[in-house]
Amino acid sequence: STAPLAGRVAVVTGASSGIGEATAEHLASLGAKVAVLARREERLAELVSRIAENGGTALAIAADVTDVQAVRAAADRVKSDLGGADLLFNNAGVMLPAPIEELAVDQWQHQIDLNVTGLMNVIGAFVPQLVQAAAERGVGDLINTSSIAAQSLFPNFAVYAATKAYVTHLSRHLRVELGPKNVRVSAIEPGIVGTELQDHVTDPGALDWLSGAKETMEWLTAEDIAHTIGFIASQPARVNFQQVTIMPTGQP
Ligand code: NDP
Repeated sequence: STAPLAGRVAVVTGASSGIGEATAEHLASLGAKVAVLARREERLAELVSRIAENGGTALAIAADVTDVQAVRAAADRVKSDLGGADLLFNNAGVMLPAPIEELAVDQWQHQIDLNVTGLMNVIGAFVPQLVQAAAERGVGDLINTSSIAAQSLFPNFAVYAATKAYVTHLSRHLRVELGPKNVRVSAIEPGIVGTELQDHVTDPGALDWLSGAKETMEWLTAEDIAHTIGFIASQPARVNFQQVTIMPTGQP
């Protein structure tokens, strides 16, 4: 087959909505078999049928990425059913901005548990498969979803931004560790993308800021990010995008 990702096995976390859902569909359209992970089973089932209707292959695995045992079981399932992953889009995340003085400690912890610990659980479970695939077939991809918040400074986003700075810096370090084993590591850093991410925000000031931002600029779509991930993964094995920042044209 001439499909750019034919023969590849992708794992996408946070695949039940937004960026992950769009990316799973796009990677499948490029020929990859795709394992889709998130907590909402019905949403995953709908996604898998849509991919199948379009001639692709997908496998739904309902799992909470903060649960290390569930993530290990998911990795075993990808190994037994699809032969192991060679592309990991490590994307599940949550954004809960609030002024630091509100001491929203539960929201701080939630962001750290998912964006840092959950991301690490997935890395721990799937990196062995990526390394093995790269040794056997010459290429593997680990693409972590960071954010422009890893680079720019936004009042009230300190904890979220810090989790994403962790993702970017971790990715840079893993790149030099895994690159010699033919596993390409990338961090994607989007500006604002219209997804369900904004629906979880509870802080009134942050909600005002978001609705203002919706009026003054056209946001990116999840498909814009999906196409970028497809492009990164379709490069020749020697080409590694270390960091890709993608912004709405109107976002300062
Ligand atoms: P969504 O809220 O639409 O998607 C988040 C996904 O993560 C959902 O599929 C959700 O599924 C999943 N998820 C949440 N908690 C868990 C969990 N404990 N275990 C497994 N999966 C979980 O938002 P986006 O698509 O926008 O977000 C994707 C990534 O992009 C995040 O890392 C976000 O920080 C990042 N990002 C988003 C930007 C934006 O403006 N939208 C900008 C920059 C970065 P479920 O609830 O079914 O588990």
